[in-house]
Amino acid sequence: MRNFDWREAPQAEFAVIGDPVEHSLSPKMHAAAFAHLKLPYRYSAIRVNGGEVAEALEHLAAKGYKGINVTLPHKAEAYAWAKETDSLSKRIGACNTLSLSDRKALNTDGPGLMDTLKPLGLKVGATVLLLGAGGAARAAAFALADAGFDLRIFNRTPEKAEQMIRVLQIKADLAQVPDPASTQLIINATSAGQQGETPRMLWERAPRDAIAYDLSYAEGPTPFLNEAKSRGLRTMDGLALLVAQGARSLEWWLGIEAPREAMLRAIR
Ligand code: NDP
Repeated sequence: MRNFDWREAPQAEFAVIGDPVEHSLSPKMHAAAFAHLKLPYRYSAIRVNGGEVAEALEHLAAKGYKGINVTLPHKAEAYAWAKETDSLSKRIGACNTLSLSDRKALNTDGPGLMDTLKPLGLKVGATVLLLGAGGAARAAAFALADAGFDLRIFNRTPEKAEQMIRVLQIKADLAQVPDPASTQLIINATSAGQQGETPRMLWERAPRDAIAYDLSYAEGPTPFLNEAKSRGLRTMDGLALLVAQGARSLEWWLGIEAPREAMLRAIR
């Protein structure tokens, strides 16, 4: 998918901004949604440098853009630009969805994650091991703790996980080692896979019926999911989350139900 510098953004109504942004599946997914809904909207991928988010958003608003998805590394800068935000964005200081005309922001990463967990049939109070303490982990940790899961968090840099738990003011155990014993769900919210690595994990301690969920996605299974599969665990990749968070953005912009099946088909 071609991506544009924000100064050369094409005429369109919606876009994802990020850096890098050329590998984003959002344009394909939202184009499929608009086609399914018979709406004439266009969705582009726009590269924005750090420090230029506010200027880029003003430019896109003046060009007639209505809604923006925000990906790495701009979720905090986008939040700072917004005048009105939802409670999750406020709590984690980051948002992934903007409405340009009224400068409103929304975070659909947390609720989107909860949407993807529903079909798994986990009981309230189930134990979840969360790996990571970056932006994705923050949204996940808040949503999981808020929903009443028994949360255990491990991060390569433990101080960051400790700080995350403190800042979010959530009830969660800070794990000294990535021990999945007695967990029902293991969530990889690290970006290790992007460097072809698998995050540290004591796989031999994972219960046989645990589910391994990698929030990232790749052409094939990630190293994390390959490892889980080889041990007989059920696995899930990040495409369902991409659809869930994108569908919630679209519904917020347009006030109509998003065609989740068509969106998933477009990127599977
Ligand atoms: P951040 O850069 O904010 O955080 C990265 C995290 O990964 C940190 O906790 C970091 O640990 C950890 N990490 C990086 N490399 C390694 C490694 N080699 N071993 C162990 N831990 C490592 O990234 P995000 O939180 O924004 O994104 C994380 C992942 O989630 C990405 O792969 C992203 O694509 C995915 N994602 C998917 C979405 C979807 O819609 N499916 C939505 C949002 C994110 P440390 O603190 O020690 O540096």
